[in-house]
Order: sequence, then C-alpha cells, then structure tokens
Amino acid sequence: MRSVNLTPSPRAQELLGALTSFMDECVYPAEAEVTKQRAAGLPAGHEPAVLDSLREEAKRRGLWNLCVPGLSGLGYLDYAYIAEITGRSPDLAPKSINGGAPDSVNMVMLDAVATADQRTRFLDPLLDARSGSAFAMTEPAVASSDASNIATTVRRDGDEYVVDGHKWYISGAANPRCSVLFVVGMSDPTASAHRRHSVVAVPADAPGVTIHRAMSVFGYDDDSAEISFDSVRVPVANRLGEEGHGFAVGQVRLAAARLQHCMRMVGLAERALELTCRRAEERVAFGGTLSQKGQLAAQVAESRIALDQTRLFVLHAAALVDSLGSRVAQSQISAAKVLAMRTAVTVLDRAVGVHGAMGVSADSPLARWWALARGLHIADGPEEVHLEVLARNELAAQEALAR
Ligand SMILES: Cc1cc2nc3c(=O)[nH]c(=O)nc-3n(C[C@H](O)[C@H](O)[C@H](O)COP(=O)(O)OP(=O)(O)OC[C@H]3O[C@@H](n4cnc5c(N)ncnc54)[C@H](O)[C@@H]3O)c2cc1C
Repeated sequence: MRSVNLTPSPRAQELLGALTSFMDECVYPAEAEVTKQRAAGLPAGHEPAVLDSLREEAKRRGLWNLCVPGLSGLGYLDYAYIAEITGRSPDLAPKSINGGAPDSVNMVMLDAVATADQRTRFLDPLLDARSGSAFAMTEPAVASSDASNIATTVRRDGDEYVVDGHKWYISGAANPRCSVLFVVGMSDPTASAHRRHSVVAVPADAPGVTIHRAMSVFGYDDDSAEISFDSVRVPVANRLGEEGHGFAVGQVRLAAARLQHCMRMVGLAERALELTCRRAEERVAFGGTLSQKGQLAAQVAESRIALDQTRLFVLHAAALVDSLGSRVAQSQISAAKVLAMRTAVTVLDRAVGVHGAMGVSADSPLARWWALARGLHIADGPEEVHLEVLARNELAAQEALAR
C-alpha cells in the first residue's frame, strides 16, 4: 500500500466546521418537512421546496461548488471528507451545497473537457444551480455495464448530429430542473470498441426527446428517467471532446463520481449506526435492552470496524487520485466502490433489523436509505465489473513482478 497523508487541508478543515454547523442549524431541521411533503405526494423527481432556501444559505456560508477541484481548489481527499458529512442527509445536504449527483460530476467533466462556448452554455447554469443535468448512457435493451454495448446512435449529418435511441435509469432527468442531457451514443460503428462512441449535449426540451417516466428504486420514487431520442438534432458544437472519444470523456467523471458516492455512503451508514445504537439502548425485550443482547452488540462492533476500515480505504484512494491521478488509482477506486457499497448495505440492513417493523416502515428513513445504498451498488458499475478490473490489474502486476 502506498503511503499517503490523509489530513485534510487547513481550508478543508475550516469548511468542515462550517458544514457541520450548516447541517445542525439548517439541514437536519428541514428533514421532517421533506418527509411530510413526500407523504403528501411530492411528484417523482421533483425537489422539496426547502432546497431553494438551503441553497441560498449554503452560498451565504461559503459552502458552494466545493466539488469541482479545478474551481474550488480542494483536492479529492478534501472533498471526500465533505461528501461524508453531506451523505448523512442524502435528500437535502448534497444538493444544498451544489454537490449532488449527477450535477456535481457533470460539472467536473465539463470543467475538464468543455470548450469556452460549452462552458458558457452548459457549465455556468450548473454552477449557479439555475438548472440541472443528466448523463445518459444506460439502455434497457443492452447489458450496459459493458459500455461498448451502447447502441444509441449519434450520426453526423453536415453540421449536426442526429441522435436516436432509448435510455433508462438516467439520474436527474426526471427532475423538471434538468435542462441538458449528456448522451453517449455510437458515432462510428466501424471503429474499435472503445473509439465508437461520442458524448453530445442534448437540450432536455429538444424536439424528439421524450421523457417517458420517472423510474423507481425498490418502489421508491427516484429522480432517474426513461427517455427516448427520436431523430434529435444537435449542432456539432455540442459534442464534448473528440469524436469517438466518448469513453474517455465519461472516464473523466467516474473517479469523482465513485469517490463521492463512496463517502456519502460512509456518512449515511454512520448515521444509520447512530440510530441503531439509540434504538438498541431504548428498546427492552426479554428482560434487558437490545444493546445488552450479545448478538446485537456484536453487530454494533462489526459495523464500527467496517465503517472505520471503509472510510480509511476511500480516503486513501482519494489521496492517491490527488497525488498520482485516477488512472494510476484505478484499482483503489474500484476497490473503494466495492467496499463502500457492501459496508453501507450491511450497516443499513442491520439498522433496519434492530428497528423491527419500524425499520421497514415509511415512518423511519431506514428502508429508503437501504434502497438508495443497494441501488448505488449497481449504479456507476456493478460490483462484479469492479472486481474484474481489480483482478485484471492484480494479475498483471504479479506477472510483472515474476518477470
Ligand atoms: C439508482 C440508479 C441510478 C443510475 N443512474 C444512471 C445514470 O445517471 N446514467 C446512466 O447512464 N446509468 C445509470 N444507472 C444505470 C447503471 O449504471 C446500470 O444499471 C449499470 O451500469 C448496469 O447496467 P445494466 O443495468 O444494463 O446491467 P447488466 O449490464 O445487464 O448487468 C446485470 C448484472 O450482471 C452482472 N454482471 C455484469 N457484468 C459482469 C461481469 N463482468 N462478471 C460478472 N457479473 C457481471 C452484475 O451483477 C450486473 O448487475 C443507474 C442505475 C441505478 C440503479
């Protein structure tokens, strides 16, 4: 294991203090209102009204756009600490500071690859949270964990591209604020597997774009959508990066996406462990509190070990990205994704268990949080694909050592 320093920068330490106060004073107190709005039928994909005032307050406190390293001056390690705190209140905190997926990582991508004109048209509105965005790769008809399968076409016709295809589970696209979809499609079927695809920016209201429905995750409303593209025309100037370099463009966002998700899940699981301990101390059965039962106490201890191990592992991966870049840290990022999602699902599952029927009810946030974590296990690459990457890199490294 490479040695790295895991201490956040002095500026990040200041921001972490400010963020913790923001969570205590503004975010946690707003959660009950969101639950009420959901119960009253907040439409799928729509944001709770309180987010607008939280965004204003976060801006006022200097907690805005921290997630784009090129603009905030923070590193991946610094932002990992911030993402953990926001993960504790997943419905509100990430978006409050303009660090919610997918806008956060689309901003990272645009900052790295957009032309000056594209920055004005696509990045600036996201930096102000004037509108939202989505990254559209997955398709219902093909196994999309293998990105080379993507069948949507992005065909050049003079000064335009014509987009035809069908996508689903596209995060952010069911949110009425979504104004632009970054669509991955095949631009040259004759090219090699990793040079066939390009990414083009498609306005969400372009003729031929149909948002069919908001998707759900284990029955819970999600802000992802099923979308079709029927002869949608966009100017060539809407292509991100070079033609045929769609995968390279997508890769730019992946390190940030995975590490942010990992740390938010650590934060969420920490909160679930807090609820677990509180419930176990309060609830009495068979002559003692649940916390006095050996099996439950062991679960609490196991969760603590898993969480501390996972946090250190993800922070280490983030520090490696800062010092060596995401290519060199590919194995650590994949391992972090596997470990963080396993830990989050396990800790949340234990939290559901200790709450009994309350744990599976809508009167507690735990079932919804569990569904979120299990969904993220699949999003941004299922576990099996990350394990394959790890195994491939490990075998190659061992072979090189043996030579
Ligand atoms: C909540 C949520 C949000 C999402 N957001 C987005 C988004 O914003 N944009 C977007 O484009 N997509 C998004 N997705 C889609 C997600 O990225 C895909 O579901 C994922 O890449 C898997 O593709 P697939 O569903 O086609 O599964 P498939 O490719 O059909 O794979 C199914 C299963 O096969 C197994 N498998 C796959 N490959 C291997 C292998 N090599 N070895 C062993 N087993 C394997 C895995 O268990 C995998 O889960 C989201 C998904 C969810 C659940």
